Amino acid sequence: MRAMVLDKAKLPLQARDVPKPKPGRGHLLVRVNSCAVCRTDLHVVDGELSNPKLPLILGHQIVGRVEEIGEEAHSKFQIGDRVGIPWLGWTDGECVYCRSNRENLCDRARFTGYTIDGGYAEFTVADARFCFHLPEHYNDVDAAPLLCAGLIGYRSYRKTGNARCLGMYGFGNAAHLIAQIALYEGRDLFVFTRPGDVKTQQSAKALGAKLAGGSDEMPPEKLDAAIIFASVGPLVPAALHALAKGGIVVCGGIHMSDIPSFPYADLWEERVITSVANLTRRDGEEFFEIAPRVPVRTHTETFPLEEANVALDRFRAGKLKATAVLLVNPN
Ligand SMILES: [Zn+2]
Ligand SMILES: [Zn+2]
Repeated sequence: MRAMVLDKAKLPLQARDVPKPKPGRGHLLVRVNSCAVCRTDLHVVDGELSNPKLPLILGHQIVGRVEEIGEEAHSKFQIGDRVGIPWLGWTDGECVYCRSNRENLCDRARFTGYTIDGGYAEFTVADARFCFHLPEHYNDVDAAPLLCAGLIGYRSYRKTGNARCLGMYGFGNAAHLIAQIALYEGRDLFVFTRPGDVKTQQSAKALGAKLAGGSDEMPPEKLDAAIIFASVGPLVPAALHALAKGGIVVCGGIHMSDIPSFPYADLWEERVITSVANLTRRDGEEFFEIAPRVPVRTHTETFPLEEANVALDRFRAGKLKATAVLLVNPN
């Protein structure tokens, strides 16, 4: 099968013919239709995440069709079903985290497109227990960005509880999706971008944000919660400084530059800083239930599989107009 393969960090992916994988017990062989590109893919290619499987097939926002099912008495999928494959690929089900409904923190978790092969290829195999049925509302291209930007963004959003004034720092793919849910649920949304990025600020306002400005600005009222979507450490003290008492700053990314020091007074009065790691299957089920009701709209820009490096380079340079989605076996 055709695949784009990462041999080593900091090298471009190589277009290569590799053997088609075989589904083990409980696994699905999936013919990949589309796979969205995530910032995490960029972090892996750029060597910012340690110990990826190598050589590696990237990609953890996969939409495809079940082609074959590894031996299993009952599967929630049938041959021909459409399936979504997310970042969380496997957990042991028995560690202290798994047994306390925190499988996102599993000690032995495996991740699609990082520690197991993902969707930058014609076929992939995935543990059926971690795959999702996707809402009919979305076609194969529009559904792909929901599988990470949507799911992990949603987990970040849920950590903000019922915050009325919600800040978002960075307004990329995940923020754009989650802002739609926040507005649907009646939150007052304040968006902060790179200072001077008027275009992004306008798109946030067009979506319904009460205010959109530079991250060096303070909101007109204190925030009950803030989600940081950009991988920029100095945004943490900036967001913290804008919080009301008891507020929370949620860092939504897997990687961030170092966080500068800040006065304790900014954390005092029960303010909280937390990160969000991975996702649980429950996050996915909840998100796919609410997304078509909003309905959350995705904006995409498509590339053929073979142009994965072009998509990654444009992502790194900030030159994508929307979420990049690789077309693998388009319908
Ligand atoms: Zn576990
Ligand atoms: Zn991702």
